[in-house]
Amino acid sequence: MKITKVDAFPIRIAPPLRDVNRQVDTLRDYGEYVMATDSWTSLYPKNFETCLVRVETDEGHVGWGESFSPVSSCATARIVEDLCRTVVLGHDPHDVGYLWYRSYSAMRERGHGSGFYVDAMSGVDQAIWDLLGHHHGLPVHKMIGGCYNKKIRVYAGIGGDDPAKMAATAAKLADLKYTAIKMHIRGENKQLIDIVSSVRSAIGDDIDIMVDVHTTKDVSAAITLGRAFEDYGVQWLEAPVAAEDADGHAKVAQALDMQVASGEWLRTTYEWKQWLEKGSVDCAMPDIGRTGISEGMRISQLCDVFNIPVSPHVGAGFILAVAAGIQVSAASPRFQILEHMHAYEKTKAVFATKYPKLVDGHFEVSDAPGLGVMVDEKRVKSLLIE
Ligand SMILES: [Mg+2]
Repeated sequence: MKITKVDAFPIRIAPPLRDVNRQVDTLRDYGEYVMATDSWTSLYPKNFETCLVRVETDEGHVGWGESFSPVSSCATARIVEDLCRTVVLGHDPHDVGYLWYRSYSAMRERGHGSGFYVDAMSGVDQAIWDLLGHHHGLPVHKMIGGCYNKKIRVYAGIGGDDPAKMAATAAKLADLKYTAIKMHIRGENKQLIDIVSSVRSAIGDDIDIMVDVHTTKDVSAAITLGRAFEDYGVQWLEAPVAAEDADGHAKVAQALDMQVASGEWLRTTYEWKQWLEKGSVDCAMPDIGRTGISEGMRISQLCDVFNIPVSPHVGAGFILAVAAGIQVSAASPRFQILEHMHAYEKTKAVFATKYPKLVDGHFEVSDAPGLGVMVDEKRVKSLLIE
């Protein structure tokens, strides 16, 4: 069996993705995208955007994956078709690990060991695993180590800056049987502590609370904030300081009893090694839409060696990235919890006829082959970015 086709589909979907952690009056318009003007946070899409990848073999087997691309998905698609396709065409899909390594090696000497290039590789890797699953009639987790976790617990994300509104939203999610809620918040420490206090009062002590401050603090402010959060039983402080600052993350992690969770921007074991050796995280957050399944599993296993739990980031990833996150979570001995976006669950699966569905705050790991997602190709094509 040989891979004979690799195609990329950059897609965009309305309704608009509300900017979950920024006030509207602080956003500047950049056409299809927006960015906060009062901090150094990311460029966000007004609509959902990503890049799907389809792989086919000479025997007619098909697999789908997702190169998570919240912005500039056409750039990712171009890399999939110009570079990744070139490397994997003609190979047996069972050589999936070799193909990840060969693709990575093709560009590492040029400094493309992360970013768009590895995102592109990720979708191809997922699609090959999905194809193998359909070929063998097995779910991906059975081929990457087996089922360590039958239930994949999730947390629901919320954002805003008004303590009362945040508390009301959190209470609604608790009523829907979510057992953990993560807040995307930024601002002065006092304002953030008020929000956490209000949410904790609204949902009681039985629901886990996490807080993502999106890299907006310096080390000292992050430690002060974390100590205050500990009084409210906050589970983790996420991305406390700058994304490049592994040493700063380590200082915060060492000072606090609570977990420091981070790493959605790290794509390979080579990057993770440095963060784990420094003690920069108490909980690792690889995004399988960016790492792929092969490297996502290597990261998970490396985390196990360092005795660090894994909570995959998902963010605005579509259903194929979610499904890849579920498969790696199922096969991870140190899985903690998976990210989930409650409000857009159906939107993110709009091109799928079958897909994993959330029940009472968790995904049940199923025996559906591959990633467990049936893709409607016509629907995908109708969403293509012109
Ligand atoms: Mg985050």
